[in-house]
This record gives sequence, C-alpha cells and structure tokens, in this order.
Amino acid sequence: LLMLGIETSCDDTAAAVVRGDGVILSQVVSSQVVQKALNDANVSESDLCAVAVTVGPGLSLCLRVGVHKARKIAKEFRLPIVGVHHMEAHALVSRLVNKDLNFPFLALLISGGHNLLVLAHELGKYVQLGTTIDDAIGEAYDKSARWLGLDIRKGGGPALEQLALEGDPKAIKFSVPMRQHKDCNFSYAGLKTQVRLAIESRNIPADHISISSATEEDRQLRANIAASFQRVAVLHLEERCQRAVEWALKMEPSIKYFVVSGGVASNQYVRTHLNHIADKNGLQLVCPPPSLCTDNGVMIAWTGIEHFIAGRFDDPPAFDEPDDMQVMQQINMVS
Ligand code: ATP
Ligand code: FE
Repeated sequence: LLMLGIETSCDDTAAAVVRGDGVILSQVVSSQVVQKALNDANVSESDLCAVAVTVGPGLSLCLRVGVHKARKIAKEFRLPIVGVHHMEAHALVSRLVNKDLNFPFLALLISGGHNLLVLAHELGKYVQLGTTIDDAIGEAYDKSARWLGLDIRKGGGPALEQLALEGDPKAIKFSVPMRQHKDCNFSYAGLKTQVRLAIESRNIPADHISISSATEEDRQLRANIAASFQRVAVLHLEERCQRAVEWALKMEPSIKYFVVSGGVASNQYVRTHLNHIADKNGLQLVCPPPSLCTDNGVMIAWTGIEHFIAGRFDDPPAFDEPDDMQVMQQINMVS
C-alpha cells in the first residue's frame, strides 16, 4: 500500500509518500523550496532588498500560499513586497534575456490559461490587442495530447510536439479559426473539438488508450492528427500576430522587438514560425529559453526587480496585520 499525503493547512505546503508498513519513502516541505533557493544563491533573507510574489491571475487558494509565505518573510526581515502579475512576468522575463529590449514592444503570451497579444508601452502600461474568446492554445495542446494517448507526465505540449515530428501536417484538413473576424482575438475550442472528432471518426479509441500499445498504422494516424493540429494551431497564431504587428506599428512605429513567451513558446515549431513573422515585418523575435518560458521563479524575481527599481512596491507588512490578502488587491491588471 502506497499513500501520497498532501498538507497545506499552515504556512508550508508539505507532501510525502508513505508505505503501508509506516516506512517514509519521501517527504518534502515547500518552505524547503524557498530555503533551497536562498542556499543555492549563497544568500540569507537579510541580504535581500525585497520579496516578489505572484498575486494573480491564478487559483486563489494557491496564490494565498505564496502570498502568505512572502509576507511572513517580509515581516520578519522588514522587507518590502512586490506583488507580481503572472502574465506580466511571462512578458518581462524577455528583458532579462535580452538587455537591449526596450519599451515599447509587442508581446504574444501563450500558455495553459492565456492567449494574449499585448502592446507593452512602458513598465506597468500594457494595451491588450487580443485575447482568446474561449480556450488558450496550451489547453488545446494538452487535451489533444491526452486524447491521442500520449504520455503527458512531462506535459501534453512537449509530447504532442514530439509526435508531430513523425506526422504529415497536411494529412487532415482542420479549419483555421476565426478567419472571418478581422481582429486579433483567438479561439481554440473549435480546433480542440475538430481534433476529438478526427480521433473518433478514425476509430482511434480516444482517452487513456496509450500510444505505446498502438499498431504502426495507428501510430502514424495519430502522428498525422498531431502534426495537422499543430500546423493549424500555429497558423492561427501567425495570422493574428501578423495583424497585431500591423496594428502595433501604427500605434508605436518605433517598435523593434516581438516577444513570444509562456509555456507554449518553448515549442520549436512555434518559435520557427513566429520568427518568420517577426522577420517578415522587420522585427526581432525575442523568445526566452524554454526553462524561462514555462512557469518559473526567475520571471517573478525579475519582474520584482523591474518594479522595485521603478519604486513600485509595498512597505514591509506590519507585525500585527492579519490580512494576508491585502497585497492581492494590488494586481496591476493587463488591460
Ligand atoms: P498561465 O500562464 O496561462 O497561467 P500556466 O502557468 O499553467 O498558464 P505555463 O507554465 O506558462 O502555463 O505553460 C504551460 C502550458 O504550456 C501547458 O499547456 C503546456 O502544455 C504548454 N507547453 C509547454 N511546452 C510546450 C511545447 N513544447 N509545445 C506546446 N505546448 C507546450
Ligand atoms: Fe504561466
């Protein structure tokens, strides 16, 4: 008997795997994550200038854990707090990667929950040019990967990208979303359904039928679906980005950079095709390395640095202040 235990009732998040006979196979406490980051950097809390923490968007219960931890450290060591918007962090980490990347710039943020085209005028000043009207592209990758029976333990996106390499991208005619809408918004729910229908109509047993037990013919079919999905998913990105570049250059002719970030930006096919869009329009593509495209602490710390330098931070929390969520009111929404 093997049991996974998860404990989140207090300051720390803890998890462990314990065997029926009481043998502890592993145990981890999330405060160890913070401690390890400090140890690995060879610094202590008192060396810090401030603490940056994600305040949204995200699941409020998850956000609370981080905010609570940040406030606790900030109180104890009298440090200011910088509340960070998760999507702003996905965008701004590109400025850590490329020190020449000045405002204004155009950014495409593609992840599990968001599909955003943003004109970044200056720090904290963003104009949204487009968003998804239903699902984000990462969600479409994740669901399609699951339906195709891929091993999604390391994420659906990377698994589908891998399988697509074996497939014919023109094998299945999926229709490109929203062509009749002359705007910069996105839609991936319909494409997701098209994938599901393609799987079902070809009699591939959808859902939890592992590709590892598929016949060669079945595997090729799934690879063709993966490649055809990816082609259209990215074609949709390209079309909307081309329009957004045109809009952005009209508003801000001095734009030189096109930033692409968020988990889906780790995809090589995505990078190649968006690089082409940038090139075609005389812009330089800035796409952080995959480890900085998917969620990471670096992007939060870096965005914290940007805001801290600009004087945008909260004073250290008072010792007796009970309201942990106060900092959450201060989300700088991308609007
Ligand atoms: P959000 O940033 O919208 O809140 P999130 O934080 O959960 O969502 P990220 O970590 O930024 O998402 O990105 C995860 C998403 O990126 C997942 O949907 C994942 O499948 C996708 N992804 C990661 N690598 C790849 C890849 N190589 N190809 C396609 N998609 C990928
Ligand atoms: Fe994210």
